[in-house]
Amino acid sequence: MTLTVRRVPMLSDNYAWLLKDEASGATGFVDPADEAAASAAVREAGGRLDFVLLTHHHDDHTAGAAGLARGFGARIVGNRADRRRLPKLDVELAEGDDFALGGAHARIIDTPGHTVGHVAYAFEADRALFCGDTLFSLGCGRLFEGTPAQMFASLGKLAALDPETLVYCGHEYTASNARFALSADPENPALRERAAEVERLRAEGRPTIPVALASELACNPFLRAKDAEELGRLRRAKDNS
Ligand code: ZN
Ligand code: FE
Repeated sequence: MTLTVRRVPMLSDNYAWLLKDEASGATGFVDPADEAAASAAVREAGGRLDFVLLTHHHDDHTAGAAGLARGFGARIVGNRADRRRLPKLDVELAEGDDFALGGAHARIIDTPGHTVGHVAYAFEADRALFCGDTLFSLGCGRLFEGTPAQMFASLGKLAALDPETLVYCGHEYTASNARFALSADPENPALRERAAEVERLRAEGRPTIPVALASELACNPFLRAKDAEELGRLRRAKDNS
């Protein structure tokens, strides 16, 4: 497996991701909010960009997409069902589709909740998940459009991936999420350990993402919620915290 991933921080707390299938050289960019920062990262990595991959329509994930794609002759990839709200798509995908980045393959997972048109890209053989604003480390996306039941089902699909999968989400929200998670599940030893690690990393100015799915399965109260009702309750409490 030859997918390599480079983090590209943007705006105040967004993470975009530059992906390269080393065998073929095929390159993709996930959620470019900031065209200038994204372009600089692509140039620094050799100047090739084949695809721009979008998880959902929010500006902090899409604002740089059209310009970035134009600049490098890349094609824009996203959810067919949300095409009207996304930048103009060249490749339209839906649940269960296979997206090939050279020899690296992603399964498209429909993950409504944060928005109704959200998708995630699961490079299963490479154990890499790009999940935008659905699953965060120790948290999940706000329910701007979807219901707790939708988010519960979406998180359930992500939870079923190989636990060794690395989760590449769209924001560095982990420190704030850790405070809430500890209040919801104070006796969880794995969570306490992860929270301490997060505190240490952030004090050193280092990222907490990616994180192994196994860690989230042990620590993340939203991923561990037993039903949609519990998830909804947690989400409302976090919104008001
Ligand atoms: Zn969003
Ligand atoms: Fe976002």
